[in-house]
Amino acid sequence: MLENKEYKEVLKREGLKNTKHRTSILEVMEHSEVPLTAEEIFIRLKEWNVAISLSTVYRVLETLVTKDLVNKSSISNDSKALFEINRMEHKHHLVCMGCKKMVSVEGCPFEEFEKKIQGTNGFDITGHKLEIYGYCAECKHGK
Ligand SMILES: [Zn+2]
Ligand SMILES: [Zn+2]
Repeated sequence: MLENKEYKEVLKREGLKNTKHRTSILEVMEHSEVPLTAEEIFIRLKEWNVAISLSTVYRVLETLVTKDLVNKSSISNDSKALFEINRMEHKHHLVCMGCKKMVSVEGCPFEEFEKKIQGTNGFDITGHKLEIYGYCAECKHGK
């Protein structure tokens, strides 16, 4: 788990002021094994007695997504969007089109590819995003 101090450094590096709201939200996400909706994060913050409104949670999340500190499932833009802390270890997700569940998968098919195209068009490669869509076991059988 990241220490609070590390959140502060991460936020500083991204040019963000470290506010209680930002560090608390990062901490909730760090403690969660699964991606969470903004509302679930909001409920956990309440349990931790952090005074915050749901709209602030949304706003902070959007800021953290912009800075790549948090990943947002791009499958939907509504209140069901899932957020997950970007754990620096590189991971991809399977996303269920039925229930919107996200499951992480080991390994990355792009590591070699990135090396191969490094420098192409003058680009320095810094990373990539990839989500794989489908139907989970429950949704598949429910259809
Ligand atoms: Zn599903
Ligand atoms: Zn990858």
